[in-house]
Formats: sequence, structure tokens, C-alpha cells
Amino acid sequence: MTGFSRRGACPALSAPMQTGDGLLVRLNPVAGGVSPKALIGLCESALRHGNGVVEVTARGSLQIRGLTAESATLLAAEVDALGIAVRTGVPVETGPLAGLDPEEISDPSSLAARIREAIGAANLGARLGPKVSVVVDGGGRLNMSTVQADVRMTALAPDQWLLAVAGDARTATHVGVVAEADSCDAALAILNAVAERGREARARDLPSDGLMELLQRVSSFAPPSVLPDISPTRGEIGCHHDLRQSSTPQYERDENGRLISPLVGEMSGRTEGGNVERPSPVGILQLRDASVLGLGLPFGHIQAERMIALCREAEAAGAAEIRFAQQRAILLLGLSQSACPELQGKAASLGFVIDPLDPRRMIAACPGAPACASGRIAARDVAEQIARESGAALDPSVTLHISGCAKGCAHPARSALTLVGDEKGAGLVVDGTAKGLPAAYTPGYELARSFGGVAALLTKERRPGETTAECIARLGESRLAKAFQQG
Ligand code: SF4
Repeated sequence: MTGFSRRGACPALSAPMQTGDGLLVRLNPVAGGVSPKALIGLCESALRHGNGVVEVTARGSLQIRGLTAESATLLAAEVDALGIAVRTGVPVETGPLAGLDPEEISDPSSLAARIREAIGAANLGARLGPKVSVVVDGGGRLNMSTVQADVRMTALAPDQWLLAVAGDARTATHVGVVAEADSCDAALAILNAVAERGREARARDLPSDGLMELLQRVSSFAPPSVLPDISPTRGEIGCHHDLRQSSTPQYERDENGRLISPLVGEMSGRTEGGNVERPSPVGILQLRDASVLGLGLPFGHIQAERMIALCREAEAAGAAEIRFAQQRAILLLGLSQSACPELQGKAASLGFVIDPLDPRRMIAACPGAPACASGRIAARDVAEQIARESGAALDPSVTLHISGCAKGCAHPARSALTLVGDEKGAGLVVDGTAKGLPAAYTPGYELARSFGGVAALLTKERRPGETTAECIARLGESRLAKAFQQG
């Protein structure tokens, strides 16, 4: 699969990754989205050459799995024939509504394009490791606050960007504020410094005092020491907008104790108290002159035939474009307001997630056994069962990660709760990753029932106004482990 010279070839498309269920390709359209017709063609290719399932990742990339070296070559040729140019090189990501959302602070598209061009001109793609990425976040309703990146440029004003490194909006280290004219140079200065440390290096490896030195050459750079409201604490520098997104949104509960989301009826929003919450791409969003329908893929995947059926319905309803969005979702663009509810209903009947509070959105699960040869548990089957039987115990403050093995493909970051398969059965890891040491075990076939014990404990013990994450932290590992073992 090497030696591709095809126009628009993406490294992931020209050099697929080996996984436990064959080769995997990941692609992002250069244009931001694809037409419904093009997505139908792509799904037909996935049916012909892959395992018949299409996936959208937490970062909003389309994935096709189950390929062989030969079928991946055919797929790549068909993507090209469909006229879908895919991004190559170092990912420079913007929000899925970049340039379209009237609430965004600044359209990030132009800065992102300049950074991509500068990366190419400096040949940084060959010198940086494959996981190094840049986020250019213009703000707005589907901002990129939860997406991790080595370099983050976040709009503070139409001509002013906050530069931060290594993390998401809450955890990244803020470096300073740069003017629009210098923002591309500032991002490149960081990337060059990472490249100088070798292909294994990431922005988190850069010494913070070195960052300041690097940026001295950027004329309008304002280091934190001259910014107002500065805290010496990592990632807590004050600025014009509160960029510290709440990781535990303030949800209310109805009389039955179920969560009521301030997102209901819209894609994202602010609580009455003014907390900016995690943006959700699922729901109906009104733009200036058209509506957007956001749909989740259950656990990030769906049968290609169902996606094809949705595309046909979307096209008939007037959708002009489909974009892949963070948090395992797709956005149907160009719809009239009146077309959205009916299309949303059809999407639900095809298996798409239409409610931001659907428990399936709070569970990350890889294919697991038997689809993946490395899988010790049937991760997605278990996830379906847990969502159905115990989903009411979850809320958007947590991600329950269900992993077929310790590799943890579906959610490499820490989770409040992780269920992971290994040679001893299925383990429960509290506040860790799939590689963490399980606090308790159960046989794989008992996993959903055992988690039911944890869910029952959370439901019983949660205090009024407390989130699931807060309740888990208060109960602690040993009580959760006991509930898991008792089932
Ligand atoms: S985490 Fe899941 S998809 Fe990844 S290798 Fe393990 S079983 Fe396979």
C-alpha cells in the first residue's frame, strides 16, 4: 500500500493501519463535508471492500474497517473517483460548522488553511510524529473545546487568537495571545520546536520557558505575564472569554430523577447559570438561512446500508452536504426548518441517535469480539445492553468506556469507568484507561449484569444535583468494585 501518488491521497488512505479486524482507513474531506450522493458512493465502497460498517470517530473522522491490502487499494481508487479529496499530512482541524455558525467568534478556515500551507512548505509532515495535531477553534455552538491537540489556536476576537499547547480547552497550557497576522507564525514556531525534538516528540514535551523564548520572534505576541487576570496555575490564564469549558455540565433533574438537558431541542447551549457546557452535535440547530440536523452514530458506528438509506432520505429532504463531527456524529446541512423533525424521526428509525441525552452517547465502545481478533469481550453488544438496561445511571459528566482489550482504541484517555476484557475476564477500572489495573473482575458473559450492580449503586446513592462523575468520585473505587462483583 505504499507508493501512492494519487491526487488528494491521505496517509491513512494510502497507508492503512493494521488493527485486530484487518486494515483500517480514516479520512477527512478537504471540503469539510461531502454530498449525500458522494457519501452513498463511499458507503457502497465500504460494503464492497470493508466489513460493511462505517464509523465516525470522537474527533469527527470517517473510518472504514475490515480491509485487506488489495481492497484498501480499491477503496482508495473509488474515493478518488467519487471526487472526494481527502486531507493529508498533519491534521489541522476546525469545528464542523466553521464559517457557517453565526455565533462563532472568528471563522477559523483561513487561519487553518494558512497553517496547513505553511506546514507543507516547511515539510513538517515528514518531521512530526503521526499523532501531532493542530486545532483552530473559532468558537460557536460546535466549538472544539473538548478536542485534544498539540497546538490550539482559539479565537478571542475576530483578529486575536489564544495560543495554547498540549491538551483540550480545559487542560492545555496557555502560552499567550497573538494577533491574526502573526497567528500562523506562532503555530509554526511551536510545531518546528516539536519537530526539532524528533518524530516521537509531542508539544507536551516542550519546556514552558522555551515556549516563551520561541515566541519572542512573533512581534505581537503577548505572554501571560502581561495579560489580565493571570493565574500561575497551569491552564488557568484569564482572558476575554472563559475558555475553561465545564467538564461537568449543570443538568437539572425532573420529578423522576431523570436528567433534563439544557440542550433539549438544540445542539448545544449555555445553562441559565452561564456555564458553557460541552458542545453536543446532536439535535437541530438553526443557522442564518438554513437548519442543521445533527445525528449520533451509536458507539460511533452504523451499518453502511443504514447510512445509505439516511443519505437518500436526506437528499430527498433537501440536504446539500453531510459533515462528520466530533463526538461520533454527522451533520446534515442545508435543510429547511420544517424538514428537520420528519428527517430526525426517519433517522431514529434507522438507528441513529437523535437525543443528546441518549445513554449511547455516554458510552465509548470498540468493536471487540468477535469482530476484532484482539477482543476478549463483545464490547459493542455489551454496550447496547448496558445502555438499554442501566443507561439511566449515566449522564454527560462521564464516559463509560467498554474496551475489548487493554489497547483501548475507542477512548485512549482516562474515563470515570472502564470495562475491559483481558485473560481473567472483564475488569472494572475506576478513573483510568483500559490499560489500568482493574479493581474487580467478572466473567465476560456476566459483564452487563455486573455493571447493573454499579448502576444500581449510583442511582441509589446519587444526591440531588450531583452528577454521575461527582457521585463516582465520592463513592470511591472499593464501593464501586464491591457493587460490580455483587452484580
Ligand atoms: S481495543 Fe477493541 S478494537 Fe482495539 S484492538 Fe482491542 S478489541 Fe480490537
